[in-house]
Amino acid sequence: MSFTTGAIRVDDKNHVVLPRIGRIRTHEPTTALLQRVAAGTARILRATVSRHGGRWFVSLTCEVEREPRAPRHPQSVVGVDVGLRSLAVLSTGDTVPNPHPLKKAQRRIARLNRELARRHPGSRGWEETRRRLARAHAHVANIRRDAWHQLTTRLAKTYGTVVVETLNVEGMKQNRRWARAVADAALATLRRQLQYKCLWYGARLVEADRFYPSSKRCAACGVVKDALPLWERTFRCDVCGVVLDRDENAARNLAALVAVVAGSGPETENARGRDVSPASAQAVPEEAGSWQETSP
Ligand SMILES: [Zn+2]
Repeated sequence: MSFTTGAIRVDDKNHVVLPRIGRIRTHEPTTALLQRVAAGTARILRATVSRHGGRWFVSLTCEVEREPRAPRHPQSVVGVDVGLRSLAVLSTGDTVPNPHPLKKAQRRIARLNRELARRHPGSRGWEETRRRLARAHAHVANIRRDAWHQLTTRLAKTYGTVVVETLNVEGMKQNRRWARAVADAALATLRRQLQYKCLWYGARLVEADRFYPSSKRCAACGVVKDALPLWERTFRCDVCGVVLDRDENAARNLAALVAVVAGSGPETENARGRDVSPASAQAVPEEAGSWQETSP
């Protein structure tokens, strides 16, 4: 259900007023939006009411005026690789762990699945378990989304350039391993959030071409391996002997893709997040392939 006309407004710090429905209490504070509306820098365009996993949600579409901002370190570049065991690994060597409550929530899902299998389909108990299972799934999705929001805000506020992998859409259509499917979904979330947050905070988002061998390339010497199976968690270079965590090696390669391009032009130009000309893109090493850029 969506409202585009009538009295939609946020009221004190925990309430939303909707046409026909009236004043409802919200779980999350509405203070930030209230202040913006009062200051005249935000305007509510639409309110959408929906129900997921047994809870009611209201989302407000707003038009917001934003001050031009710059990330804390405009010259810096960070590569982000979606981790298979952690949430993400950065080219700086930082590992961003999976959020703590995730394991507990996943165990609950496993338990409810077993419970559902024991119950008679269509019975009251079965319906009840199914309802709780839907809530548990929604809870896991929320935990993940929150963790991604925290990370992408931090990245866009800190680094001048953020480099991510491009989603392999063709590969996603095939029947794939569960771990890989989760990683693909995570990469899609990462890119979607970075696309607008980089715009907000004045950072530049670069998406590596899907043929860029971020996993198979040695971040130290640049040599590319023929194959690197998914179960291989450590990158060992046969040429220069470097030993790195697989995801960190990939993240460093993503950062390296831009460092070469950025180094060829005036720094101030990159700091302002302007497009890098196609001519300077050719400075990328041969194995880097082509690349595309999403720039604010
Ligand atoms: Zn090497």
